[in-house]
Amino acid sequence: MALTFQCECGNRTALFATGDIDEQGREYIEPEDDERVTYIVGDHGVLFRCGFCGYTYRLEKMRTIE
Ligand SMILES: [Zn+2]
Repeated sequence: MALTFQCECGNRTALFATGDIDEQGREYIEPEDDERVTYIVGDHGVLFRCGFCGYTYRLEKMRTIE
């Protein structure tokens, strides 16, 4: 499993499944190259910051999953 991050500037990288699974059966994902994208998890959602142009995308928190 992988998610692809693609910025308008052409920067493209993937977040890939690590094989590590938490106690509820959910698998961890990580950026394949952390110079291309930085992600920041906050109280209101997740920010993905492009490592090339600095543009930042915001994924808003929809609800709490637990
Ligand atoms: Zn960019």
